[in-house]
Amino acid sequence: MSRILVTGGAGYIGSHACKMLRAAGHEPIAFDNLRTGWKAAVKFGPLIEGDLLDRDTLAAAFKEAQPEAVMHFAALSNVGESVKDPELYWRNNVTGSLNLLSAMRDAGVGKIVFSSTAATYGEPDQDPITETAPQKPINPYGASKLAVEAMLDDFEAAHGLKSIAFRYFNVAGADPEAEIGEDHRPETHLVPLVLDAAAGDRENITIFGDDYATPDGTCIRDYVHVCDLIDAHILGLDHLMQGGGSLRLNLGTGHGFSVREVIDAVDEALQMKVPRKMGTRRGGDPARLVCDGSRAKAALGWAPKRSVMETMVTDAWRWRQTGRY
Ligand code: UDP
Repeated sequence: MSRILVTGGAGYIGSHACKMLRAAGHEPIAFDNLRTGWKAAVKFGPLIEGDLLDRDTLAAAFKEAQPEAVMHFAALSNVGESVKDPELYWRNNVTGSLNLLSAMRDAGVGKIVFSSTAATYGEPDQDPITETAPQKPINPYGASKLAVEAMLDDFEAAHGLKSIAFRYFNVAGADPEAEIGEDHRPETHLVPLVLDAAAGDRENITIFGDDYATPDGTCIRDYVHVCDLIDAHILGLDHLMQGGGSLRLNLGTGHGFSVREVIDAVDEALQMKVPRKMGTRRGGDPARLVCDGSRAKAALGWAPKRSVMETMVTDAWRWRQTGRY
């Protein structure tokens, strides 16, 4: 049982971390500025309201929480927004993380699990993508996460910080008990947008291009259930707590789904025909991003359980119908 400071603990992924840490016998303490997160999502431990850019609040949070390790989810994560306003991303994601690492060093906390991204690979020439693929991000969001990975390396060399950086592919689904789930406003992600169209809250789902070099012409992504993703984080935390070394691990299943296949899965799960419309390509979308997840499985014994498209869609739908903030 450990006390874990969860930055971004009021957000989509961070709130699932808090719930599952609690279920695993740990004590999660959420640290969140509530700008994109939800107070109502903090149900599994205390909330310290604060911003990573405020070093005094951060230092006070470490004093109050006395954590043994940190899970770091707090970040801005909208690729399009990062292109329009790179300063925002460099300040929040990079300066914010630097403040966090320096607060950890000052408080003597030497273990961190960090949420990185497949966007650090940019447009990879590997398929599936392994962790050794060159990291050449093509947008400020990916660049900001890669900068934090570099920071983790440097803090390890200088101060002995142990870290796991998980490079997420596409995260979907929700808590099967629908206590918490995905609620971005505005929403930009495919699965919740398809469900909005299914519920009649938007007219249709726009498919961003069907002229890609894929079998049905739409982009292929590797979707992982948020609960499987957090399983990996808890295994990663256990690994560090037992004295294990730093790791860089992809999190994805190795199965690709096209945009059309995702919409078809919603049709199938909800027994309806979701209204859809063909649109143009969204800038910066590679045709296919599929993960080689074998390293995470080998290093941590990670075994995804709910990352089946039907389950992800059904869990997200249940949350949408019964939960939401
Ligand atoms: N997408 C789409 N219509 C939408 C939103 C997304 O066709 O309204 C596509 C997008 O081009 C990408 C895939 O769905 O190929 C997943 O996009 P999302 O924004 O969910 O995640 P990303 O891959 O950008 O991390």
